[in-house]
Amino acid sequence: MTTTPLPGHPHFALRGDELFAEELRLGDLARQHGTPLFVYSKASMLAALAAYQRGFAGRKAQICYAMKANSSLGILQVFAQAGCGFDIVSGGELERVLAVGGAAKDIIFSGVGKTRAEIRRALDVGIGCFNVESEAELEVLSDLAVAAGKTAPVSIRVNPDVDPKTHPYISTGLRGNKFGVAHARTLAAYQRAAALPGLKVVGIDCHIGSQITDESPYLDAMDRVLDLVQAVEAAGIPLHHIDFGGGLGIAYNGDQPPAADALWRKLFAKLDARGFGDRQFMIEPGRSLTGNAGVCVTEVLYLKPGEDKNFCIIDAAMNDLPRPAMYQAFHAIVPVKPASGPAQTYDVVGPVCESGDWIGRDRALAVKPGDLLAVLSAGAYCMSMASNYNARGRAAEVLVDGGRAHLIRERETAADLMRSERLAS
Ligand SMILES: *Cc1c(COP(=O)(O)O)cnc(C)c1O
Repeated sequence: MTTTPLPGHPHFALRGDELFAEELRLGDLARQHGTPLFVYSKASMLAALAAYQRGFAGRKAQICYAMKANSSLGILQVFAQAGCGFDIVSGGELERVLAVGGAAKDIIFSGVGKTRAEIRRALDVGIGCFNVESEAELEVLSDLAVAAGKTAPVSIRVNPDVDPKTHPYISTGLRGNKFGVAHARTLAAYQRAAALPGLKVVGIDCHIGSQITDESPYLDAMDRVLDLVQAVEAAGIPLHHIDFGGGLGIAYNGDQPPAADALWRKLFAKLDARGFGDRQFMIEPGRSLTGNAGVCVTEVLYLKPGEDKNFCIIDAAMNDLPRPAMYQAFHAIVPVKPASGPAQTYDVVGPVCESGDWIGRDRALAVKPGDLLAVLSAGAYCMSMASNYNARGRAAEVLVDGGRAHLIRERETAADLMRSERLAS
């Protein structure tokens, strides 16, 4: 039997005439659990993590999985067991880490709008670092820490003002973005933080954007951040760690992002040259750890030929796979059992009543109703962004580990969706 790996998807392959995730047939999983179904490969996630670990070999570094990419408990557990910390952006994410036994001290809390309740809870459990995004947040954090009789460990997220050359909605390190403290304000913000009674300055962080496929923005941002480290430390405020954020892209459509280990070899060459190579580092990768470790298996419901367009209507929709509707993003779509017949060009669309509910445009497919398709690169920013629009229950999720499949999320039922609602009278 010939094995053809899926491009960009380690541990997903066409074996003979059928797609497999590790040792299991996607078709069998779909029959057992129904569709739409997210299928993840544990080995893929660990392989993506290993690339970072190779890049950090011999260095002091902590990898904090940016869990907004995929915050399902079964996925968090994989990273917690592999020794990762977590980058969180809400109180809900904090509770999820704690629920899988993640250590509070390995949590860093990012986000421009932390509420007082979220901050109090994070102080209470003793997280490792607050990545503060504004001068106003420093004041609130210090007040709450003093009131709780604690000292909050803080890092200031700096905006290095470099262009990550990605989609405007996922670029975060430019001057016009809402994220971080402006480069020019950084020293003043650190001086204020050092003077506040409830804070202990422990680090500096940045995160310039997402789906970055070019190494130059990283190298530029590193120089800008190191300039700030020098300025802050020259003012007598030592920085224990440097957190370089996440953002490394994945191959969705033949993109060729740098490999994590190769990128970090280059970044460390710069760090060594500038005398910072022996510092404590942190990174916050999300998409690059889970994105190509997951696919969404969906069934073709109807084919609808038209004058201008042919439509292939599937049972997954924008509520399951929101990236095309949100960012005109591309997901490759392949048959689970490729057929030999002639291909037609289709717009692949879901059942939701919105013209924005498309998953792929102008795709050549040889399919018939009842066939299964796999929407690729669906491990990040799909289930974590999924909604119940059109009163659609969220899909089930399966984590494949070698020859075993673990159902890590049951399909939501109509009753699940109505559980927290009350009639007015
Ligand atoms: C989203 C986010 C990340 C992860 O970004 P990816 O592109 O998924 O790697 C890291 N840090 C912060 C602060 C984020 O908001």
